[in-house]
Amino acid sequence: MSFSDPEPLEPGLYIVATPIGNLKDLSPRAADILSRADAIAVEDSRVTGGLLRHIGVKRPMIPYHDHSTERVREDLVARLGTQAIALVSDAGTPLISDPGFKLVRAARAAGYAVTTLPGPCAAVAALTLAGLPTDRFLFAGFLPSKAKARDEAIDELGAVRATLLFYESGPRLAASLSALAARLGDREAAVAREISKMFEECVTGTLSELAARYAGAAPKGEIVIVVAPPGEAEPASEADADALLAEALERLPIGKAASEVAQVTGLNRRDLYARALALKGEA
Ligand code: SAM
Repeated sequence: MSFSDPEPLEPGLYIVATPIGNLKDLSPRAADILSRADAIAVEDSRVTGGLLRHIGVKRPMIPYHDHSTERVREDLVARLGTQAIALVSDAGTPLISDPGFKLVRAARAAGYAVTTLPGPCAAVAALTLAGLPTDRFLFAGFLPSKAKARDEAIDELGAVRATLLFYESGPRLAASLSALAARLGDREAAVAREISKMFEECVTGTLSELAARYAGAAPKGEIVIVVAPPGEAEPASEADADALLAEALERLPIGKAASEVAQVTGLNRRDLYARALALKGEA
């Protein structure tokens, strides 16, 4: 080994958090481990290839997902006895709505060293932005995309006395906010978008206000929804109720739309039914 060769790393699995939007958020230690790992287990070699180019590093990459075959996982684990393998995901902290859990479990079961390099995580970053209680929080990942499964998942969380965190995409945001309002009550909430990127924003309001804001105007970019623990909220305004009705009428017949918005807002169902008829032009 020459003096310019970096020290080899101890063998084992290194879980390395990477930026969620701003490449400057890669820690010096993360860059150091990535540059010295024998190989890097990646979700998408194009994404991680871009990060490695940014830091001027070339290392072998091995595609890895939790749905990779047992064989791929066993091969990776077998290397941990003699090699330093870094695990990254496309962005943020591996294992958090990203691959890695099964690999870490297998590495531990086989008795190999596992260490983590903490760093960016969209859920925690959103929690720090929202201005909602941080003493107890529950990260619930992505809600299911089918309405019935989504509603059941939300119902399971209704009694949890903690701030709730969800990952979400722009096209589904308004429907998810409406469903959250309908099933949890009209709680305080925040939509944190594009954290650490040029168009970062964090919009706060009640769930029904936020559902109304994003109905018919799906935002671009990456999103975390933050929902306050159960408590009292202000009654919804007429304008919010109209926006919620308009959104619900796209999915439901008039009677069901009025019932859903009545449940979300606590407003009178009869009044909402009449208003829905007017919005439909049928009054
Ligand atoms: N492992 C990542 C982490 O530590 O945050 C999360 C991976 S998950 C597949 C991707 C989701 O995280 C996105 O759909 C979005 O909901 C959220 N997300 C990632 N980056 C974000 C950002 N910069 N701003 C807001 N949300 C983000």
